[in-house]
Amino acid sequence: MSKRELRRDYFTDKLVLVGKGSPGGPSRDLKPDKKKSKACPFCPGNENMTPPADVALVEREGSLIKMSDEDPDRVKGWVVRAFPNESPVVTPESSNTFSEPPIYSEPALGYDYVFVVTPEHKLSFSKFDINQWTNILSCVQDKMKWFYSQKGVAYVLAYINYGAAAGAEQPHPHMRMISLPRLPPLIEAEAASVQQSMRTWGTCPMCTIVNLESGGPRHILSTDHFISFCPWASAHSFEFWIFPKRHQTSFLRLSQKEINDLSLILRSTLGGLSRSAGDVAFNLIFHTSSEKKTTKQIHWHIEVYPRIKDWSALERGVGIFVNETSPEDAAEILQRDCKKELAEVLGIS
Ligand SMILES: [Zn+2]
Ligand SMILES: [Zn+2]
Repeated sequence: MSKRELRRDYFTDKLVLVGKGSPGGPSRDLKPDKKKSKACPFCPGNENMTPPADVALVEREGSLIKMSDEDPDRVKGWVVRAFPNESPVVTPESSNTFSEPPIYSEPALGYDYVFVVTPEHKLSFSKFDINQWTNILSCVQDKMKWFYSQKGVAYVLAYINYGAAAGAEQPHPHMRMISLPRLPPLIEAEAASVQQSMRTWGTCPMCTIVNLESGGPRHILSTDHFISFCPWASAHSFEFWIFPKRHQTSFLRLSQKEINDLSLILRSTLGGLSRSAGDVAFNLIFHTSSEKKTTKQIHWHIEVYPRIKDWSALERGVGIFVNETSPEDAAEILQRDCKKELAEVLGIS
């Protein structure tokens, strides 16, 4: 049973998932060299190195079949597979109890899954084809629905850590999905802003931003249903966000057409980023509304943070970011490169 707990800072709303199981020095994350010589547990043929997959998508005669591993057997020939993380940051059961402020803690209850998003160890996210993105997004949508059907789940996070500088546990391209027993502070803050604007003006502030940035100096690319732009206060060089153009609170209700279109913009923008900045490490995270009954709704979107420079005392100490590339300059470069990628993908170059 997990010894992790969710602690809140004495004074602020900062949350920390604290592990209490590894005394005697820094965790393995700080010693990446130890793992270098080992076989990749995410590569085809090594499926037995991971727990059995609940979902293994397999392509058979042009259509996708959803299969799952039956221990000790493993499904072969998969294009995406999802299984419980062996080193989870949250667990369905916990031995921890609650404690009161100022030393507030609660059990770190939840689910933690790994999605291996391609069988190809060395394929960068910037090179995934549209079909692969569609497979991944459908799988994410599916599993997220399952997460929200579980007891005690208040919020589900889907994200990518790509490259060691972005905190990736393995070099093989993968995604993570974790659930939390409460909303993350940043999502709470976004939801509060949306709620206040709705109450005061009757409009979604995120729809306002989509309109404001559309065709402006920070605009990168638009498809039928989505827009990408560098945010006004980009904290990272070449940071960009992807929003549905129309007001949409739930990622789970995306139609197949919208999933295809999201695949197109993800492929084009991540491809464009790698043209502009090389094969950089990045974090990508979904900001969605909770699917549990709550008034805390947001206009869902995706945020991408390239990790070109490490954080300094300012970022870590007081939450002020230093960004050497203005979002306007970044958008100009990204727009050129993302348009090239889009044209290439659509076969009109
Ligand atoms: Zn691999
Ligand atoms: Zn909106």
